[in-house]
Order: sequence, then structure tokens, then C-alpha cells
Amino acid sequence: MSKLSIKDLDLKGKRVFVRVDFNVPVKEGKVGDDTRIRAAMPTIEHATIKGARIILASHLGRPKGERVEKYSLRPVAEHLSQVLGTSVAFAEDCVGEKAESAAAQLKDGEVLLLENLRFHKGEEKNDDGFAKQLAALCDGLYVNDAFGAAHRAHASTAGITKHVERAAAGLLMEKELEYLGRALNDPERPFVAILGGAKVSDKIPVINSLIERRVDKILIGGAMAYTFFKAEGFNTGKSLVEDEMMDTAREIKARAEAEGVRLVLPTDHQVVDRYDPLNSRKTIPVEFTNQGLVGLDIGRETVALFAHELEGARTIIWNGPMGVFEEKGFEEGTVGVARAVAEAAEKGATVIVGGGDSVSAIHQAGVADKITHISTGGGATLEFLAGDELPGVAALNDK
Ligand code: AMP
Repeated sequence: MSKLSIKDLDLKGKRVFVRVDFNVPVKEGKVGDDTRIRAAMPTIEHATIKGARIILASHLGRPKGERVEKYSLRPVAEHLSQVLGTSVAFAEDCVGEKAESAAAQLKDGEVLLLENLRFHKGEEKNDDGFAKQLAALCDGLYVNDAFGAAHRAHASTAGITKHVERAAAGLLMEKELEYLGRALNDPERPFVAILGGAKVSDKIPVINSLIERRVDKILIGGAMAYTFFKAEGFNTGKSLVEDEMMDTAREIKARAEAEGVRLVLPTDHQVVDRYDPLNSRKTIPVEFTNQGLVGLDIGRETVALFAHELEGARTIIWNGPMGVFEEKGFEEGTVGVARAVAEAAEKGATVIVGGGDSVSAIHQAGVADKITHISTGGGATLEFLAGDELPGVAALNDK
């Protein structure tokens, strides 16, 4: 890694500002899935052991620059205390008197969590004055471990770095950059990408970047596939299609062919009649789709086809569900692909999975322990794979 690491910093007795991604589900004052909190543990534990005075800061939800009680990070501080097995202090504001006095009281190895950064408009605006206030809390040391927020140039991910002496990557950030960076720039081949989700438009930069890097195959599922089918003249019925993306889909196909990249589309899918969605579910070949049908998941033949296409792969990246995964009855395709990538991983492939639905499918299939790297980023992972430099990474000091 070319960026400074938390391991390069002398932390003993110093107040260090650590940007984490604690944007976790909170319901009735209790934290739900705490994967993101646990993902930051290595950095927090490293800093504790080294005797740092740790100031953690995060956003939660979209309070839009105002104090909104349901987006308070207080329940996260309580949860973090349990996970760490030691008491975590909480400051009711992330800047100003309360934050300053809480930061000043920290002793070596102690942890403080600041209130939601997005309770202030300055955070998302990357306001310099606000960034300076945040920086004033620490002793010139800043660590960014919030990979999931690194694609945003906000005060706590970008602006603050101008006001500290050293800005370094946390251990989670390093791990994300290492795995994703290697997959993108120096993948062991065959290299296969699996893309799904609703829209082609969201994934164009990623598809182009993968084609440019001559990925061997791209397997396409989810509603995205219908835009490609319709562009080919197939009847896609009432399936979700982006009509304005037809030309783009054709261009992508032509570019892939020219570069020797295979695009693999589903051969069968689960459909419902849009006038009788509860009783009409069936699996049919994609070419038999008629006007009244809506495609909501890939079929078993396609799962088998995708599994076959993954045989022998040495690097696999997967982002996006194969169907309307969140609805009962239409999760089979996505869970099937989760099993297929896990199987490929067991045979030695490096498997990287990113994006909320794909990661849930990995857990639902019970194969999380087989996956080489489960990325904590959604948008950040996609932007990284698109070849863009993430502002939160660019802002860190070079080694
Ligand atoms: P994305 O945010 O692009 O990863 O897309 C995720 C969304 O795509 C999920 O909410 C899925 O319900 C949706 N999706 C996947 N396949 C389909 C489909 N065949 N029809 C409609 N929506 C779909």
C-alpha cells in the first residue's frame, strides 16, 4: 500500500481521530446487524494496545445537517462497550465544548465515540471550518477506517486531513484496498465478475473498467439482464428495463466482444403474471417471456450455468443480487450464486463480495467463512472497481 498506515504512527499517549463507518441499523435504541462495528475492531484494538486516546467519529443515516434523535450514535456507544468489553465514553456532539472536554478527559487506551457527524451541515459540505473543529480534538493524528464512506469527500473523510500532521489508513481500510486493488490491477486468472441488481446505469463505469482490464467473463443477473435482452430484441414482458440504456447495452456488448470479454446472460428465470402475482410463479426459458410476465429472479438452470462458468476461476468479484432478493420466494437465485462462489473459493479462487444484498445472501447461505473478502463498502466498492480514486483515500498521506 502506498498510503501511510496506522501501524506507521506513534500513538502512545496521543489523541487520535479515527473515522469509522458505524452506519448500522438501530431500532428502538438497539443495534441490529453489527458487522460494521466488528469490522473496525482490529483498528480500535491496535490503537488501544498502543496506548492511544481514541476519538471515534461516524455518520448514521441521513439526518441532513440537523439533530434527529433516531440517528443518535448513543446506542452504538453502548453496543461498542459490550463488544470491546470496556466502557466507551460518548460525547453528545461531535464538535464544540462537549466534544472538547470529553476528548481532553481521555486517558491512554480509552475510547470516546462522538455524536453523529451528519448532525452538522458542515460534514457533507466538507466545510473547512467544521473540518478544523474536528481536527482540533486530536493531537494531529488522523486515521480513516471508514472504507464504506471513502467515496465521499466530506469534512471527516477529506477536509480534516488538511488540519492534521499525519493522515493514515486504518487496518480495515488497508485490507479493503489490498483485496480490491489486487483484484482490479493484478488478478489471478481466469478472472470472473458477477453483476446484478436493478440498473445497468449504476454499473456502467464498473462494467467498462472490467472490460478495459480484460476480465475473462462477466455474468449478469438481476433486472440488469433485461435491459441487455431487450436491446437484443427479446420480449422482456413487464420486467424492469431501462429503455434509455438500450444503446449503452449494445455498446457494452460490442466493446466486450472486441476485447474478448464474454458476457453471460441468464437462460431461464422465475416470472409472475403481473395480474396474478401471488399464484402465477413459474420458471421459464428467457425467450418464452410474454407481454404479461415479470421476471423477478434467475432460474435454477441459470444458477447451474453460472456455477459452471465459475469452474476453474482464480479471482471472482460479485456485486448485486440476481433477483428481488428481499422478497420471499425470489431469493433462490441469489442464494444459489452465493453457494456457487463459496464452492469456487473452496477450490482456491479468491472471492470478493460487496454490496448489501450479495453480502446478505452470503450469510443466508451460511458460507461467509468461505469467502476470501466480504467488503464493507457498497458505493465505495463500486467506485473503486470502476477505477476511480476514492477521495477519502486520496486525502491520506503517502508512505
Ligand atoms: P442495486 O442497488 O443496483 O444492487 O439493486 C438492488 C435491487 O435490485 C434490489 O432491491 C432488487 O430487488 C432489485 N432487483 C434485482 N433483480 C430484479 C428484478 N428482476 N426485477 C426488479 N428488481 C430487481
